Amino acid sequence: MSTILPIRHQPPLPLDRLIRRDAPGPEAIEMDVLIVGAGPAGLACAIELARLVKREQERGGAVADLNIGVLEKAASLGEHNLSGAVVNPRAFRELFPDLDPSEFPFRQPVPAEAVYFLGERRAQRIPTPPTMHNSGFYTASICEIVRWLGERAEAMGVNLFAGFPVDSLLVDGNAVRGVRTTASGLDRTGRPGAEYTEPTDLTARITVVAEGTRGALGQAWREWQQVQSANPQLFALGVKEVWEVKRPLDAVIHTLGWPLPNDAFGGSFFYPLGPSQVALGLVVGLDYHDANLDVHELLQRLKLHPLFRRHLEGGQLLEWGAKTIPEGGYYALPSRRSGDGVLFVGDTVGFVDVPSLKGIHYAMQSGIYAARAAFQALTSGDTSGAALAPYDIMVDESYIVADMRRTRNMRLAFKDGLYVGGVKAGLMTVTGGRFPGRRITMDEDAKTRRTVSATRPLTPDGTLTFGKLDAVFKSGNATRDTIPSHLIVGRDVTAEVAAFYSHVCPAGVYEQQGDELRVNPANCIDCKATDVLGPRWTPREGGSGPQYRSM
Ligand SMILES: Cc1cc2nc3c(=O)[nH]c(=O)nc-3n(C[C@H](O)[C@H](O)[C@H](O)COP(=O)(O)OP(=O)(O)OC[C@H]3O[C@@H](n4cnc5c(N)ncnc54)[C@H](O)[C@@H]3O)c2cc1C
Ligand code: SF4
Repeated sequence: MSTILPIRHQPPLPLDRLIRRDAPGPEAIEMDVLIVGAGPAGLACAIELARLVKREQERGGAVADLNIGVLEKAASLGEHNLSGAVVNPRAFRELFPDLDPSEFPFRQPVPAEAVYFLGERRAQRIPTPPTMHNSGFYTASICEIVRWLGERAEAMGVNLFAGFPVDSLLVDGNAVRGVRTTASGLDRTGRPGAEYTEPTDLTARITVVAEGTRGALGQAWREWQQVQSANPQLFALGVKEVWEVKRPLDAVIHTLGWPLPNDAFGGSFFYPLGPSQVALGLVVGLDYHDANLDVHELLQRLKLHPLFRRHLEGGQLLEWGAKTIPEGGYYALPSRRSGDGVLFVGDTVGFVDVPSLKGIHYAMQSGIYAARAAFQALTSGDTSGAALAPYDIMVDESYIVADMRRTRNMRLAFKDGLYVGGVKAGLMTVTGGRFPGRRITMDEDAKTRRTVSATRPLTPDGTLTFGKLDAVFKSGNATRDTIPSHLIVGRDVTAEVAAFYSHVCPAGVYEQQGDELRVNPANCIDCKATDVLGPRWTPREGGSGPQYRSM
């Protein structure tokens, strides 16, 4: 049986493009604070910063208005955000102390919860692990959360620039001085076409990078500044669907087991979104061993299980999407998340607690801390790394790191398979994270060897199960076909590696055609899975990609 070692075929990060030493152009737009990414982390940061300025001015402090800008690659806010989601409202309460939780943009309180261990036809209910309790939390659509936060930010005077992806960080010495956006209107060969718009430079006293999972800018900055972490970051891919259903769901459900092989880490979620909609998804760690494992296809199989089927049959698929999740946990946190003129918040840092599948409130909370550190630095007139370092201290002393420390080895224990991992995770829960008394070391996902085996593809029926092209259509992706490729493919891609990429990518961007790899860049929905295991993803023309509405 042949094997594939993904790292061998992966091209290096295009550091010279992502970190640019060019001086900003003469037309550069000047801002005080620039935030890259309008997700929960970036928008919470913008709102808290605007609020701190207002509060200080109301107290009579001599603080001038701040020019705060948020740059988002999606054409409209929320279109590139995807989550489960069950939300812990803690960070919402901190950001909006005057609002009642019923005013938050949630669909409904968590009614009840259940965890099942699945076989192909069976569903065995198991006790809910303490890390997975969701009582007091709410189900929500992150697209709706982001649109709601965006409205609040705008009402507080924050400038939102949707459709402006950041291509590079502009640096001077060790300091980040601003950003350059991507060009748009390039033709397939990368030359300016009739609709060409050149990149825009924006300068800022502080840049806050809130670009989400597997962020290209964060990766580049850490490599450039040689910022280390104890373990490399690990990732999972989540593929998700939203359905209109006739039979509502009355509990938050998680499953383990089938259809995942025992040596893959992951599980499914099934959440009620009000009386007639449900969200379901499958999350699989990208350190799986089978080269043919295909998360999109596994999700299609999952829907055939009676547990899901009885709710979905007679219903309608409304939306489909996918995204990676940083899963490395505590030991994968970078040793610092601040530097000269720059702060990193949310998923780009890896503030996700995997056993509870929670990241939204950590992302928002890190954005709030970044705003506080930025405000202090701006009012003292010093935006150096030393002046911004209090952000790291605030995060380290907060519940973000405390929660992640408690579950520090849980995801890592599953590198030995589901059963051994399950037993170890139980011991870790009982001992508050102290078992096994040391860090479990991990390699990055691309260093896990994959075995090529025979495939048994599922034929989609078009009503309950769907192929990748129909799925991409349901993501709302309407990227123009003539776009130049934003994906950097390594050189020695064999037919087997091409087939591997075609399984990794949930959106059908890669196809094996004989010995060749065919790339359909317009299909890309920015999930970043192949950036983890193969071809590099780079920022592209604004407004490309999915157009999620209720993910
Ligand atoms: C399948 C799945 C299920 C999940 N379930 C839950 C759950 O139930 N509960 C929970 O709390 N968490 C859950 N999470 C995790 C949670 O969604 C994330 O932790 C959270 O969204 C992170 O917020 P963020 O603002 O850091 O990143 P994001 O929400 O990803 O936002 C980043 C933003 O930056 C933009 N961006 C990226 N690059 C650029 C660029 N170069 N220029 C301009 N803009 C850019 C993106 O378009 C995006 O809008 C889940 C995640 C997934 C994938
Ligand atoms: S090519 Fe795009 S859609 Fe496919 S895995 Fe990579 S980032 Fe995801």
